[in-house]
Amino acid sequence: MAQLLPLQDVLQQLLRHVPCLPAEQKPLQEAVGRVLAQAVLADRDIPPWTKSMMDGYAVRSQDLRPDTPWYRKNRWQLRVVGELTAGGVATAALEPGTTLKIMTGAPLPPGADAVAMIEQVEEVTPEGRTEPEFAVLSSRLAPGENVLPQGSVVRRGEQVLPRGWVVRPQDVGLLAEVGAVQVAVAPCPRVGVLATGDELVPPEEQPGPGQIRNSNGPMLAALARSASARPEPLGIARDCGEDLARRIARGLECDLLLLSGGVSKGTRDLVPAALRRCGVEELVHGVALKPGKPLWVGVYRREERPRLVFGLPGNPMSTLVCFELFVRPVLRRMQGQTEPGPHFQQAELAAEFRHRGGRTTLYPARLEWKQGRWQVTPLRWQGSADIQVLSQSNALARFEAHRQHWPAGSCVPVLPLPGGSTAGAATEPDTPLPGGVCDQGEC
Ligand code: AMP
Ligand code: MG
Repeated sequence: MAQLLPLQDVLQQLLRHVPCLPAEQKPLQEAVGRVLAQAVLADRDIPPWTKSMMDGYAVRSQDLRPDTPWYRKNRWQLRVVGELTAGGVATAALEPGTTLKIMTGAPLPPGADAVAMIEQVEEVTPEGRTEPEFAVLSSRLAPGENVLPQGSVVRRGEQVLPRGWVVRPQDVGLLAEVGAVQVAVAPCPRVGVLATGDELVPPEEQPGPGQIRNSNGPMLAALARSASARPEPLGIARDCGEDLARRIARGLECDLLLLSGGVSKGTRDLVPAALRRCGVEELVHGVALKPGKPLWVGVYRREERPRLVFGLPGNPMSTLVCFELFVRPVLRRMQGQTEPGPHFQQAELAAEFRHRGGRTTLYPARLEWKQGRWQVTPLRWQGSADIQVLSQSNALARFEAHRQHWPAGSCVPVLPLPGGSTAGAATEPDTPLPGGVCDQGEC
């Protein structure tokens, strides 16, 4: 770990090595959460015809003048020539002095240019008939009133969704409207997840003396899934060159490989050497970041596409921070997103904060909408192994290097964590950090 790289340089460098994966076709319903690999164009105008926005009467607005034969005592009496419901089409143009009863969504007949709301029309139905003979209007209508012109939302051939767009449930409606029943989406990258450490046992096992459960493996798999990727668990590698090499070789078949643990300076931190021996070229080792300093990243070029390999520091908080700052943006870019993040927002610090040290610090925090603004409270945590605080936090607050003190009310960048509720929390977190002090050692 020669010189620690500044945070912003690391991601820039990694994004240069991100491979572009070939797109795949997916049925509309399966496209939610996926990234569009191609822009989607409208195959017809929206709306496809000039339509009525109300249940009412289609009229020629120029008919509603005081100098017309059907004008009497501040009212216009128009002859009703029929009724058109949604799904129907008018067979003839509207003649002067006539009106067509029309339901919401139905196409306006030629000649008509406005719709009078049914509530504002008096219907005159002669004895013995069920259909009205006349519609009486007592006010004028502007051209276009209660009418949506053909193509006014989208013109045929226009783009409705751009390339790089993450499809959400409401987009499915738009895609269905333009007949995009199959859409080209970026593939879900296959992400190998390999935990390393002699002390680790699978979560379903009872740990023996000196052992802990592998929590990073399942967490990284879940994080990968939350980034529209497909995790491939590769188990736990022991801190020994052969076992690491064997599992790394399998992991290098994936589009991206994540390892956790074994990247710092301990005697059993064998991951960088094992990766290098497997042909992975080092790009990054050491970032001016807390937690996450020992991050190792390399690129494997022996396949048709380059593959990025992350050696994430083993502490769960470090793993999470490095995933959010570097891995998630890389996964987004692999799926064609042009703005891969990380997307920080500004929030007001709810309590004073102090830290020391020359590295940018990411602190677990609660982001809440309170009194009309986003407020962030750094949470008390006991170093990067404090896994409980990860569940209490819904964001990471960023404190730049070379500054020690942030008074309450300062504006700081905050990265919301996926799935975290940032709505005004019903309950206060039980461990807000009063006058927060980050006094953890190296992590
Ligand atoms: P290392 O980077 O391998 O030195 O690990 C740093 C710390 O993170 C140690 O306390 C490890 O026990 C812990 N750790 C490493 N890997 C995992 C994992 N997969 N799950 C939970 N804790 C881990
Ligand atoms: Mg280890």
